[in-house]
Amino acid sequence: MSRFEYAPAPESRAIVDLQPAYGLFIGGEFVPPADGGVIKSVNPASEEVLAEVAEAGPADVDRAVAAARSAYQDVWRPMPGRERAKYLFRIARIIAERSRELAVLESLDNGKPIRESRDADLPLVAAHFFYYAGWADKLNHAGFGPDPQPLGVAGQVIPWNFPLLMLAWKIAPALATGNTVVLKPAETTPLTALRFAEICQQADLPPGVVNIVTGAGPTGAALVEHPDVDKVAFTGSTEVGRAIAQAVAGTRKRVTLELGGKAANIVFEDAALDQAVEGIVNGSFFNQGHVCCAGSRLLVQESVYDELLASLKRRMATLRVGDPLDKNTDLGAINSGAQLERIRNLAGIGEQEGAQPWSPPCQLPDRGYWFAPTIFTGVTQAHRIAREEIFGPVLSVLTFRTPDEAVAKANNTPYGLSAGIWTEKGSRILAIADRLRAGVVWANTFNKFDPTSPFGGYKESGYGREGGRHGLEAYLA
Ligand code: NAP
Ligand code: MG
Repeated sequence: MSRFEYAPAPESRAIVDLQPAYGLFIGGEFVPPADGGVIKSVNPASEEVLAEVAEAGPADVDRAVAAARSAYQDVWRPMPGRERAKYLFRIARIIAERSRELAVLESLDNGKPIRESRDADLPLVAAHFFYYAGWADKLNHAGFGPDPQPLGVAGQVIPWNFPLLMLAWKIAPALATGNTVVLKPAETTPLTALRFAEICQQADLPPGVVNIVTGAGPTGAALVEHPDVDKVAFTGSTEVGRAIAQAVAGTRKRVTLELGGKAANIVFEDAALDQAVEGIVNGSFFNQGHVCCAGSRLLVQESVYDELLASLKRRMATLRVGDPLDKNTDLGAINSGAQLERIRNLAGIGEQEGAQPWSPPCQLPDRGYWFAPTIFTGVTQAHRIAREEIFGPVLSVLTFRTPDEAVAKANNTPYGLSAGIWTEKGSRILAIADRLRAGVVWANTFNKFDPTSPFGGYKESGYGREGGRHGLEAYLA
């Protein structure tokens, strides 16, 4: 049967006013880097250069930490919580007001579909600032003692998959608790963090409370190793997380690490299968699978395997891959050429090791970085695609016969960030969730986030919690 095709429905980018080059945001102003280094940020859907940003060296990081230190001592720490809250509420309101502009910019710089940046990332970013604004004057009642104190200067390093949302997860609780920050966004997605710096100016945030240093890995390393940083907060790969843990070992710095994952999404035979298929698609293809808590290992009870696979393939054939700014797009571009290489490499290894790939027919654009949504069947626990994080739109499908086997397979991973359970039985949800070694367990849903809810990992997925009341603890002494 022939299908009606969608007409293109591109979101206009006219709302985003981009400068050709950006400096570092230090002490409330944009300043050039000391040694003049620059990096280019591209649109991964077209490979077009969007802007040049400064590459901060050690001298710049030093300046930023000094600005954060004096803002901490002179302004932010002495300020009553109810006054800090006003700034955070103001920032939250400006984000909500400018959310369309921020969503378009996020999709341009990152490659994620506008449907997601508009309907998921941006509402969560604003909600996070609103939520922590509400805590700023109530810290004495948060359960951390009668008069908890801020730590000082926080050095924060974030990845490229949810650039503005990860910034919100880091900056909102730090400021609410009276800390000041120096944040390094990822090399490939610095533009919304720089726009956030402009929002700090618009909100009249005192200079130095928030500093943004753009750059690559060495900039991040200089920041976390800086002797005047009191608290390190990192989201990114387990490999870099391990290096950071080593770098700060033996210092007085406090550390939280949010690292990788390889989540099991477990479908029992009594589950509502159509609903489970939606959850599987959301769990593995949301944000092109660039999600630390992606449900990248599907565990299906053998008795419903054929039926579930057939529906999953039918559903995947309706996914639209292409222009991130098109409002009908489901999967956008892979964030960088380097990430595309990693995905291709691991998918190739999956094939070599004997698993069978399947993708729906889909035409990928000629320019930019693209990978079709893919599932691998015939996967065993020994396969690398069942053990390693692919961080792309690739799902490994395994089967099980009994609940015990499902739990054993789900926990058979060095990670422990998230998991999903699909079943009609409430008692089974509780019994299985109790036995899964994962920070977040979703039941009959997946990838649901809320600022009131803590998030974080077990084992090699890191330590510490972000979000909710728990998220305050990482910034209080
Ligand atoms: P990454 O390579 O670890 O990079 C993360 C950040 O660290 C980037 O800003 C990066 O800069 C910087 N960096 C690189 N080397 C560094 C060093 N030696 N010292 C300090 N900073 C350094 O990870 P990624 O590839 O960008 O992100 C994907 C990973 O993040 C995945 O493993 C994913 O699971 C994880 N993640 C976890 C969560 C969570 O909450 N648990 C959330 C999102 C993502 P450059 O950009 O210049 O490389
Ligand atoms: Mg970019």
